[in-house]
Amino acid sequence: MNGRAINGTSKPNTPVTYDRMQIVNDEKEFTPELIGQIGRWGLRDAGFDYNIVAVFGSQSTGKSTLLNRLFGTSFDVMDETQRRQTTKGIWMCRGKDMNVLVMDVEGTDGRERGEDQDFERKSALFSLASSEVLIINLWEHQVGLYQGANMGLLKTVFEVNLSLFGKKSAEATSQRTLLLFVIRDFIGTTPLVNLQATLTADLTKIWDSLSKPKELQGCKLSDYFDLAFTGLPHKVWAADKFESDVQVLRKRFVQKDSSDYFFKPAYHKRIPADGVAFYMEGIWEQVQNNKDLDLPTQQELLAQFRCDEISTAALAEFSEQAKSQKRPVEAGRVVEGLGQMMRTWRSDTLARYDRDASRYHQGVYKRKRTDLLAVVDSTLQPLFLGQLKNLHKACLVAFKRDVVEGMKAGEYDFAELVGKARATCEKNFVEGGKEVLVEGTTWSWEEEFELLKEEVQLVADQSRKDETKKMVNLIERNFKKQIAEPVELALNTATFDMWDKVLRAFRETLDKAESTYLAKAKSFNCTEEENAHALATLRQRAWLALRAKIDEGTADTAILAKLRTHFEERFRYDEHGVPRVWKPEDDMDGAFKKAKDQTLELVPLYSKISPKDTSLEYTLPSEPSDSLTNSDEFDFPSTLIIFSETKSLDLINRFRRDADAYYVEAKRSTVSSIAQ
Ligand code: GDP
Ligand code: MG
Repeated sequence: MNGRAINGTSKPNTPVTYDRMQIVNDEKEFTPELIGQIGRWGLRDAGFDYNIVAVFGSQSTGKSTLLNRLFGTSFDVMDETQRRQTTKGIWMCRGKDMNVLVMDVEGTDGRERGEDQDFERKSALFSLASSEVLIINLWEHQVGLYQGANMGLLKTVFEVNLSLFGKKSAEATSQRTLLLFVIRDFIGTTPLVNLQATLTADLTKIWDSLSKPKELQGCKLSDYFDLAFTGLPHKVWAADKFESDVQVLRKRFVQKDSSDYFFKPAYHKRIPADGVAFYMEGIWEQVQNNKDLDLPTQQELLAQFRCDEISTAALAEFSEQAKSQKRPVEAGRVVEGLGQMMRTWRSDTLARYDRDASRYHQGVYKRKRTDLLAVVDSTLQPLFLGQLKNLHKACLVAFKRDVVEGMKAGEYDFAELVGKARATCEKNFVEGGKEVLVEGTTWSWEEEFELLKEEVQLVADQSRKDETKKMVNLIERNFKKQIAEPVELALNTATFDMWDKVLRAFRETLDKAESTYLAKAKSFNCTEEENAHALATLRQRAWLALRAKIDEGTADTAILAKLRTHFEERFRYDEHGVPRVWKPEDDMDGAFKKAKDQTLELVPLYSKISPKDTSLEYTLPSEPSDSLTNSDEFDFPSTLIIFSETKSLDLINRFRRDADAYYVEAKRSTVSSIAQ
């Protein structure tokens, strides 16, 4: 049966040893080496798949001999030639080819020698607290000797059992122990059943004679113990029969499926194999210090100790794994598959813990599991948050890049471009956020997602503003080109409705500019407010462009040239456009005055933008803020004045001088023609 179990529970490269070990020495000290030895026996990972058996009986009744034959152990057997034993202690050995820990109690028989009954009691307590089967070894001729040493021993066992398992009667029935009586040097003249009846009667007597606590008065021997009996012939006189009977008995320790299998599950003390050493040491310490042995407390202590150990081991591997991704995350990288890694580390850690720890006291196991999980999650959470932060950054960068590159690529619909980039950005973040999520935690990526969306919105708004600015600049440039010619023409011809023409041209061109803007702005998803700002800016700039054009046409030299041309056309040409040749009889003075007066009328016309048709009058709010340039305060009414009174007088004077020069020249030409 055990071939597979042995292979399954020992590490492949370490061969199983079968050395015995003294777990309690004659100084009554418990060995610190047991855990290591259980490992060397190959049983450390056996879980509950192992059994413990101990032996009890007077000195030199062949106990060690029996154990060695039964289990293939190597306990010391008394040397025939010396016939005395002086050592005391408890030994343990692994049964050959079976997951069984065998305990051999060695000691002087205190009862016979009137000494050390203390050790006997302590070892009984210790054996009962851990063993499933207690072999009671006795000679056939001792049966029925109620006063004999054996019975004293059994009385000890029973008393001890009551103190151990008696308190909690509900648990007591679940903590049963098998007492296997092995009757040595069994001859067979008295049938085994008779011996069995005698022994059972004696046991009952002993049980009844125990002074039990009040609440346990009614409890019976069978509430705590199952009894089994077997006889073995004389080892020397019936050597063959002894040997074959031992083999039959061995089978009952080995064959799990047989009906007379000794190690019934009900006897198991439910201490996982990797906790046996700690548990036994704890038991021995309590026993040794004569403290009340409270098994549930011992089991809880064991669970705490072992669950901590298992948890620490599980965490060690986890920490290594988690550490591997700490640096990249802290360096700002989005680690691909981090969520998958984290989920695997986490579940592997729990699996490692559960595998070993779940066998221990459930309350402790669960509590420590919660603690473990808290440590694991607190290690993973910074990775989770770091990854989200990095993802956020990466998505935002990608969004900006998509928008910029899309705009560089040529023709584009801004709103569509931004919309696409935003969708990609959000999709990538959500995908990444979901990937890095760890089930069973309360973490979420939604908050970070909201932050990202806000930032994307800010970037989108900024690019839209930049775009709007660019667009307004472009429209302004076109406006300037379009307005130039009609303004020049109107200013040059200087008809009485000159300003009507200028303003009409301005109006038409501005209307076109505005509708160009509105058409584009629609696709930008600009807000009403943004549109209002942009249009106000456009109007103001258009107006300033118009004024610049007008200034250009009314600069000193330009206006003087215009006045001169106007005057010349009237003074030097007749009404048919034919150059005049003055004759003495001509009314040169009259013509001069008329031309001059008509020209001077132009100065007030040029000096102020004032259409005849008042519906053409243009107004701008006095202080529209140019949201795109933040230009200085802007006073519209003053922009209607082209030049001031003083300036007008100055122009008039300068023009007069020019006109007078023409007059003198004309006069001179008349004189010279007469002179010829
Ligand atoms: P322990 O002190 O109870 O462990 O006894 P041991 O196993 O050391 O054996 C004590 C002595 O009894 C040894 O000399 C053995 O050879 C002898 N012995 C072992 N088995 C038997 C047996 O079945 N019958 C008899 N008569 N002697 C035995
Ligand atoms: Mg012995």
